[in-house]
Amino acid sequence: MTRTALYPGSFDPVTNGHIDILRHALDLADRVVVAIGIHPGKTPLFAFEERVAMIRSVAIDAFGAADAGRLEVIAFDNLVVEAARDNGATFLVRGLRDGTDLDFEMQMAGMNRSLAPQVQTVFLPASPEVRHITATLVRQIAKMGGDVSHFVPAHVVERLAERLSQAR
Ligand code: ADP
Repeated sequence: MTRTALYPGSFDPVTNGHIDILRHALDLADRVVVAIGIHPGKTPLFAFEERVAMIRSVAIDAFGAADAGRLEVIAFDNLVVEAARDNGATFLVRGLRDGTDLDFEMQMAGMNRSLAPQVQTVFLPASPEVRHITATLVRQIAKMGGDVSHFVPAHVVERLAERLSQAR
């Protein structure tokens, strides 16, 4: 049986923290579906297609073509448990950075368990070297001209520089 995990998030843009979680998710599952949540009314820095392209490119660099081939990227605008069901995933992967993440994630896991008891949530602890990274702060630092090369892969550093030079 193919074991499929769904890893939902915004990935705007993908960071070294996301890659750390993805690496562990690929150890646990045969197939990992990265599910980009699309929220009407919320304007992301990067369009869905751009986020997909960045995830694909950094996954090949980080994991190699064979393991990156076990990764899929999709968009979803419905309930995360519905996205899991639609994509044949039996568990959700979420990263934990700190106690704030834990409180919020426990609530979400509880609600998702009520909505779909057959879908399990698996929490993966952030590795110490990436646990401070959030995509929100990466966007803010990049907009202010700061160096984000410790937080995101080189490919994403370039895409951020391009995007922000267009915005000026
Ligand atoms: P962010 O919170 O950085 O904007 P997302 O909303 O895309 O990122 O988060 C998707 C998932 O990735 C969540 O489970 C979140 O906890 C996890 N995640 C994000 N950054 C990290 C990190 N630095 N270490 C571990 N997990 C992370």
